[in-house]
Amino acid sequence: MSSETTKILLHEDEMPRQWYNIQADLPTPLPLPLGMDGKPIKPEDLSPVFPMNIIEQELSTERWITIPEEVREILSLWRPSPLYRAKRLEKALGTPAKIYYKNEGVSPAGSHKPNTAVAQAYYNREFGIKYLTTETGAGQWGSALAMSCKLIGIECKVYMVRISFDHKPFRKIMMKTWGADCIPSPSDTTEIGRKILSEQPDTPGSLGIAISEAIEEAVQRDDTRYSLGSVLNHVMLHQTVIGLEAKKQFEKINTYPDIVIGCAGGGSNFAGISFPFIHDKINGKDLRIVATEPEACPTLTRGPYIYDSGDVAKMTPLLAMHSLGHGFIPPAIHAGGLRYHGMAPLVSHVLQHGLIEANSLPQTECYNAALLFAHTEGFIPAPETSHAIAQTIREANLAREEGKEKVILMNWSGHGLMDLQGYDAFMSGKLEDYPLPDELLQQSLAAVKDHPKP
Ligand SMILES: *Cc1c(COP(=O)(O)O)cnc(C)c1O
Repeated sequence: MSSETTKILLHEDEMPRQWYNIQADLPTPLPLPLGMDGKPIKPEDLSPVFPMNIIEQELSTERWITIPEEVREILSLWRPSPLYRAKRLEKALGTPAKIYYKNEGVSPAGSHKPNTAVAQAYYNREFGIKYLTTETGAGQWGSALAMSCKLIGIECKVYMVRISFDHKPFRKIMMKTWGADCIPSPSDTTEIGRKILSEQPDTPGSLGIAISEAIEEAVQRDDTRYSLGSVLNHVMLHQTVIGLEAKKQFEKINTYPDIVIGCAGGGSNFAGISFPFIHDKINGKDLRIVATEPEACPTLTRGPYIYDSGDVAKMTPLLAMHSLGHGFIPPAIHAGGLRYHGMAPLVSHVLQHGLIEANSLPQTECYNAALLFAHTEGFIPAPETSHAIAQTIREANLAREEGKEKVILMNWSGHGLMDLQGYDAFMSGKLEDYPLPDELLQQSLAAVKDHPKP
């Protein structure tokens, strides 16, 4: 293999045997989650929501954590994922930069999300749990967990944000195909759902609301727990297979990236591709690492670093993170997976330490980037992924202007074959840019101004 190889492939036995836990290497420890009384929570406080084996992982500061054999075996259905050199995109841009993308769209659910869904379903079953509840925005997480629960042998119920439930019928059918129960949120089956419906019957819903409903159901039953597809430390951990594989793939071609790019909604695919490289950066490597987000939901770039809850009903502990306020209802942009109000504490923390950069991008630039990608590389990216592509194109254009042969790695977090309405709207000229108005941000932040500061 050389740097001219189109697909840099690993053998199945080269798949990582351990996850990388960045908590072992942080310059300062992660601020502890707080209860509503403002005091650090105890691990047992989380036990009605998550199984104890996952809570231990959430708090672990061990650098390497072994991936259970059964999890590796299921991941091997699509992993190791290919690392592509985007030669045709480079040519179209006329850039001296070398662009590589890690294709996470090859999983059965079409994104990186099954990397953690399989692990979470496994740990829950090992703990004796029979039934998982969760929320989903655009439907990628719901389908990833539905598939994983089926493969592992437990039941799954998904609260799907209303606007996506109505606009993305195919994701719903995927979940049903994998045997899960999927209902629109807010629903009339939970107390918080009924309260919100009575106050705002026409609400499009939000991830924050759907999370509250899923947790409310989980804590009522002994054999049931809740599962979150992003944000939490154990999710970041499970996703590091992406970056660990990418590092091995670069070794095969004697190359190392100058820039690593990922889009960030809750932060998991970005953490997955970047944390193993941040490990190198902490140990002296010189590289840039960039997280990108929509300018309509600018959590890392405009949300303050505060203690905030992960859901509307404040059922989760307070987490130290960049947040737009837990009550924030984002505009209905098509990148549904990037519409969460908060950002993973670990991703927020490494931004605080200057180990990464963040940038926000307008949606029309992202759709143009997605089209150029489809026209050159063939694959149609998810609208979320287009935010990584647009940043990659910016960096590649800059490399051309500077005449530098930079190596750029981007995480191609998923395909867009279930998100074609967004493409249709864009191509018919119906999409506009929507930078978040400051009044809306200030209104949302007013509700969290008394929260403790990390
Ligand atoms: C869910 C999703 C995202 C955003 O979630 P993160 O936790 O930030 O990774 C990005 N891309 C795709 C394809 C997704 O499905």
